Amino acid sequence: MKGNIRVGTGYDVHPLTTGRQLVLGGVEIPFDKGLSGWSDADVLTHAIIDALLGAAGLGDIGRHFPPGAAEYKDISSLLLLKKVKDKLTENGWQISNIDATVVAEQPRLRDFIERMREKLGETLGIAARQVSVKASTSNGLGFTGRGEGIAALAVALLEEVKI
Ligand SMILES: [Zn+2]
Repeated sequence: MKGNIRVGTGYDVHPLTTGRQLVLGGVEIPFDKGLSGWSDADVLTHAIIDALLGAAGLGDIGRHFPPGAAEYKDISSLLLLKKVKDKLTENGWQISNIDATVVAEQPRLRDFIERMREKLGETLGIAARQVSVKASTSNGLGFTGRGEGIAALAVALLEEVKI
């Protein structure tokens, strides 16, 4: 018998700025700009966190990890993702799959996608094949098209653990 299933969505945007390391899905990506934010500003991981929290009905990333809190300054978002995974486990949820899209005009992300899937899967204790990461552009339109920022969207499916 199958347990309850729940779906959640996540969306996040961070501005691109000089003097910061670009980190997406826990992977450092060579680029002349990085994302600004309180943590490492890993927009992909943040969207995934919100999808997971949303599916479990546990609020959002800002509620669990408020920006401005000293303990989260420049923190690797993978550590936040790990904490979210622990909360899901405590609440009796396991992850079926995640599907995410990064919207960035530059840099080209194709060569980094597999590493992102591995890192995210490793952090969540699931297989890389349960984590899909796709790269898209907005064809020159809007803030992503002008290279002012990077956006990420994610959905996650959770299944209740039957005891
Ligand atoms: Zn964020």
